[in-house]
Amino acid sequence: MAPEPKRVLITGAAGQIGYALAPLVARGAALGPDQPVILHLLDIEPAKQALEGVRMELVDSAYPLLAGVVATTDVNEAFNGIDVAILVGGFPRKAGMERKDVMSKNVSIYKAQAAALEKHGSKNAKILVVANPANTNALILKENAPSIPAENITAMTRLDHNRALGQLSERTGTHVGKVRNAIIWGNHSSTQYPDVNHATVDGKPAREVVKDDAYLDGEFITTVQQRGAAIIKARGLSSALSAASSACDHIRDWVLGTPEGTFVSMGVLSDGSYGAPKDVIFSFPVTTKDGKWSIVQGLDIDERSAQLLKTTGDELVEEKALAQECLADL
Ligand code: NDP
Repeated sequence: MAPEPKRVLITGAAGQIGYALAPLVARGAALGPDQPVILHLLDIEPAKQALEGVRMELVDSAYPLLAGVVATTDVNEAFNGIDVAILVGGFPRKAGMERKDVMSKNVSIYKAQAAALEKHGSKNAKILVVANPANTNALILKENAPSIPAENITAMTRLDHNRALGQLSERTGTHVGKVRNAIIWGNHSSTQYPDVNHATVDGKPAREVVKDDAYLDGEFITTVQQRGAAIIKARGLSSALSAASSACDHIRDWVLGTPEGTFVSMGVLSDGSYGAPKDVIFSFPVTTKDGKWSIVQGLDIDERSAQLLKTTGDELVEEKALAQECLADL
């Protein structure tokens, strides 16, 4: 017998990432090939017509796993009974806007969504925040939805993680499936630290296979950090396809577990591991089992890495302070 459908919310569903993400989830990329889903699609009033277009296309695609679509501009209806939420909707930074203005808009969106989550979401719902600033949006959500366990609220750094694997794959001519255990530390921003010190290529340490530390400590890092901008330059549009695909990878591994010996990067509530600041959403290497993540412990961190972890941690502390200022002004 087929399992009961799970309700998966996508916010910003009429946007670019939403348009790439909804069909992936409907095909089982997030919850597996045997799990029927009911998609909850939320967007704001100005996007209502486009959202209806997305709903119509989902119906027309006749996905065997898609058991229903709720397309709505009502945040309470959107969060009602959800099992998984992928939060993509957010206020973009427009030309001339100060950082605080963008933060203020997003803090107010995430505070409202936290209230809807508290009231209508399942207490076991697994939440992934994609919209930027993703780590801090996730923190606001966590702080304003106190009945949801903090471990259920995460931010996406999986795209950065996958970008790191992709670069190592191209550089070494090895299929990406044989490249493992890169780490994205810290913030989903330009201060993130893509770390290859524990990565392996076909079972061997990545540094031994690449044989070019200057590349790994220089161009590799900047390529991963600036990949989003490079794609905007090439495509004239942002990296929606890979963002959507990585969001599905994040949820799939969280729900179904990481393969033995493999870790992935997730933005999770920091417990201070590896000297990261506590009580911010910080990207760590994690393994997952039975729907729960755990931070990989005991990895050696050299002095240079410790400094890079500090830089990205400091930025998250500063973002948190800015978000709290914005919350106080609401
Ligand atoms: P996208 O779908 O391209 O991006 C949505 C969010 O994801 C942005 O915050 C974006 O950050 C972030 N993001 C994270 N990783 C990536 C990545 N690799 N590539 C691109 N974006 C990434 O934006 P659209 O403008 O097409 O769609 C946004 C939707 O959200 C719209 O449908 C809009 O109506 C809705 N919206 C909802 C609001 C609300 O809920 N109140 C408020 C405003 C908009 P970044 O901005 O840094 O690129």
